[in-house]
Amino acid sequence: MGLFRLLFWIAIIFAAIWIWRRFISKPKRPRTREDAAAPMVRCAHCGVHVPRSQALSQDQRWYCSQAHLEQGPHSGDR
Ligand SMILES: [Zn+2]
Repeated sequence: MGLFRLLFWIAIIFAAIWIWRRFISKPKRPRTREDAAAPMVRCAHCGVHVPRSQALSQDQRWYCSQAHLEQGPHSGDR
């Protein structure tokens, strides 16, 4: 009877840990997936942050739009 009780409690504890881990890990997972799916890049012209999927790249720089890509990186000399 003693061994049966011990196994019963071990099963209860493992089930509690499994449920607790599910509740703890759930809110964190969607955030990390979103960050990995849509990395943000900074426009070299105006400094606006846009998702990399929507940004345009030229010469290892990112731009928010075709107009800013044509104008190039921002410079204070103009
Ligand atoms: Zn821009």
